[in-house]
Amino acid sequence: MSHSTKYVITCPCGMVFHSRVYEYVNTRQDPQLRYAVLAGSLNVSTCPNCGRRAMHVRPFIYSDPEHSLLVYVDPSSDISEEAQWLTLEKLRAVHQEVGIEVNYRFPHEEKTRSGERGRGVITYERQQGKETSAPPLHVVFGLDQLQELINASLRQQERLGRLALRTHSQREAERGQLLDIARKFASEMQCQVDVEILPAEYTVWLYGSRRQIGAIMRELTPQG
Ligand SMILES: [Zn+2]
Repeated sequence: MSHSTKYVITCPCGMVFHSRVYEYVNTRQDPQLRYAVLAGSLNVSTCPNCGRRAMHVRPFIYSDPEHSLLVYVDPSSDISEEAQWLTLEKLRAVHQEVGIEVNYRFPHEEKTRSGERGRGVITYERQQGKETSAPPLHVVFGLDQLQELINASLRQQERLGRLALRTHSQREAERGQLLDIARKFASEMQCQVDVEILPAEYTVWLYGSRRQIGAIMRELTPQG
């Protein structure tokens, strides 16, 4: 099961609301969360009143057993190299205990030696005699690195598709109706819903695989 904690957020506009922050994402149980990650909306809270968005920069584990992907993600990409090493050392110690390989790419190395991908990869091998079916643990800093790993594991039709339902109405009822429709599709098609509030525009985004989003679009298109 994915694991999250509910936080009470107080927006600068005065609105108080709850927001869910994931510490552990398992895409077998919650396939829609893969698309929240790819769309950059995981652990981002949106104020339902003014639309202000805030990202929670907490590390989390991303597990996609279907694609043998296990990743420790620190969303802050601008932390020092020393801090990155410290995290890595800690993870290595824990995971070698249980016999999981730890993979880490040097981001700087990769930048300077473009075209030589994989050059900056270090792998801590699993200890002998500790056989496990667990995939190696990737350690990444910054969400873009996680998105890169996920995209590399997905087939074309499984990649991120998106669809916007939009109204210029200021009426609560109409906006609520739009959100209800989106939520209905989302639960049927295992998609993620995200709301974007602008002064003159209310948009409900649906994120899912291209295959699922395509199916929703066909349903929404009047047949003629
Ligand atoms: Zn607000």
